[in-house]
Amino acid sequence: MTTATTRRLTLASYDPANGQQLGEVEITPVDQITSIVASARRAQEDWGAHHLDARADALRPLADRLRDRRDEAANLITAEMGKTLREAQGEIDAMTEGLNAELRSITQALQPEHFESDGIRSIQHQDPLGVVAAITPWNYPMMMPHWLLIPALVAGNAVILKPSEETPLCGAFYASLFDGLLPANVLQTVQGADDQGKALVEADIDLIAFTGSRETGRKVLAAAAQGIKRAILELGSKDPLIVLNDADIDDAVAFAARSSFANAGQACVSTERIYVHHTLYNTFLDKLVSAAVATHAGDGRNPDHTLGPMVNARQRDHVLAQIADAKARGARVLHGVTTQGNTLQPVVIADFTHEMDLARIETFGPVAAVRSFNDDEQAIQLANDSDLGLGAAVFGEPEHAETIAARLKVGMVGINKSVGSAHGCPWVGARQSSYGFHSSREGHRQFAQTRVVSRLI
Ligand code: ADP
Repeated sequence: MTTATTRRLTLASYDPANGQQLGEVEITPVDQITSIVASARRAQEDWGAHHLDARADALRPLADRLRDRRDEAANLITAEMGKTLREAQGEIDAMTEGLNAELRSITQALQPEHFESDGIRSIQHQDPLGVVAAITPWNYPMMMPHWLLIPALVAGNAVILKPSEETPLCGAFYASLFDGLLPANVLQTVQGADDQGKALVEADIDLIAFTGSRETGRKVLAAAAQGIKRAILELGSKDPLIVLNDADIDDAVAFAARSSFANAGQACVSTERIYVHHTLYNTFLDKLVSAAVATHAGDGRNPDHTLGPMVNARQRDHVLAQIADAKARGARVLHGVTTQGNTLQPVVIADFTHEMDLARIETFGPVAAVRSFNDDEQAIQLANDSDLGLGAAVFGEPEHAETIAARLKVGMVGINKSVGSAHGCPWVGARQSSYGFHSSREGHRQFAQTRVVSRLI
């Protein structure tokens, strides 16, 4: 350890609603990361030797801890990344309510499986993999670490969490909920930004579970390639919503507003492109503008606000630049664009085209971009005209919508709803939106090492 000679550096955290400093954390010196990983590897040997059920049981108290500290956790999320308090409470509640089912589905996924054929009996085991690096984003600053840590830990791995540099306090808070539940060093936190992330993925780890931008995902994958390390990457998307001629227009508009504006559009499956059948187009736009007018953005602590500020000025400026590009190329801005600090009132844009940045590059802002289509073939062609493909939604008569869903190059499609699926399904993307996936039996097994033992019967 080089603590005595290392200069102490801190990472400050700011409230995006008012710019005030909320606190700071100590940045993990890059030259300490090797020894952190080594201590994780030693701790993993003991943790991985615990029975699978014992590992799941060790994490059960998290639900009560989350419940007991719900308000504190939600207030911190709102203060640090801006989403409304209601959205932050929803983030915590989803973690709390889903924990038992999640633990059950992970332990089921990791049971040994028996096979027999040709006079051979084989058992397929799911062993711990080793040390997992979880590198997480700021948009769901507690839920994203949770999604990765729970399957990684139950599988018997040690985990090193690197929260986003935008939300270090949320990362530290979430990690502290595990205090006393795990043996020492099974879960450790590295704080910092690119340098710490880079050092971590280059260290002696076995799996990188990463959620973030495609640009950083590329770097992570390149680093993983050097050590032939396993990687699960969940990257950006450009999710389309298709509104067919037989859609219930009010349902479609309500979904479009919710899915474009929630979390200030800063969600990996938020709707980023809306294609509406030409017979419904003008009515859809009128109704969507009314929904936007009824959506008030501002400090997420104020219950009158249904939309919080964007996470920072850089993200706000990225969204404003896309809107300016769309306007310059002939799109019509029907509502929004008033800014105050990092807060952007919800934006409705009509007549976007696929030459615009708005159609090609992830927006990650409260923008509903709409254009019309003439027939189903054109809707499918437009929806598939992207190199990203996490989710999609199709609104229309269900049988009709299913025929469209069958031809979309995405990982998850919601019919007359969001992409949220029944329990047991994976969270999965197509094309450049993901590499590997998580949740589901197969997803949970990505945090484990499969080992097959065979003998003659
Ligand atoms: P966003 O733009 O959503 O903040 P990024 O992709 O920039 O997402 O960052 C996601 C996470 O990856 C953050 O925790 C960040 O610190 C980390 N990171 C940045 N650069 C690297 C890198 N070269 N290797 C590993 N992690 C990195």
